[in-house]
Amino acid sequence: MEQDHPLVRDVYPDLIAELIALLEAEGERELAIVVWDVRLVARCDCGDDFCQSFHTAVRPKGKPYGEGHRCVPLLPEKGMLVLDVVYGRIMYIEVLDRQPMTAQRSESSTGPTQTPDTGPTGPADATGTPDPPAPTDRATASGA
Ligand SMILES: [Zn+2]
Repeated sequence: MEQDHPLVRDVYPDLIAELIALLEAEGERELAIVVWDVRLVARCDCGDDFCQSFHTAVRPKGKPYGEGHRCVPLLPEKGMLVLDVVYGRIMYIEVLDRQPMTAQRSESSTGPTQTPDTGPTGPADATGTPDPPAPTDRATASGA
């Protein structure tokens, strides 16, 4: 399902901000709006060092975009950004010769790692125990 893919604006907020600015500069107001909601569906698998392109829509394998397709080359300060658009929908974002983009959050992780709540260690035998264990050590003493 496409809904399971992360929003590119969450993964690469800087890139989306740049794309919006460039699209507005090109007079592509609709695309500037559409690009806000594109999702990172799949990475380009060409394996080239300079290529950080990615798909923003599922594309039938081996099929050309065909009718309704147009390329929207943009003029970033560095490298190349080209959108592949089919009937107003952004299918693919070419990111070439750019500095490595750092993802704001992992697109493959299943969310923040949470330690399962194990609860208190053992049954608290409070009957007749005057002083509770000090809460400071163990958890905070690491790295000393
Ligand atoms: Zn590529």
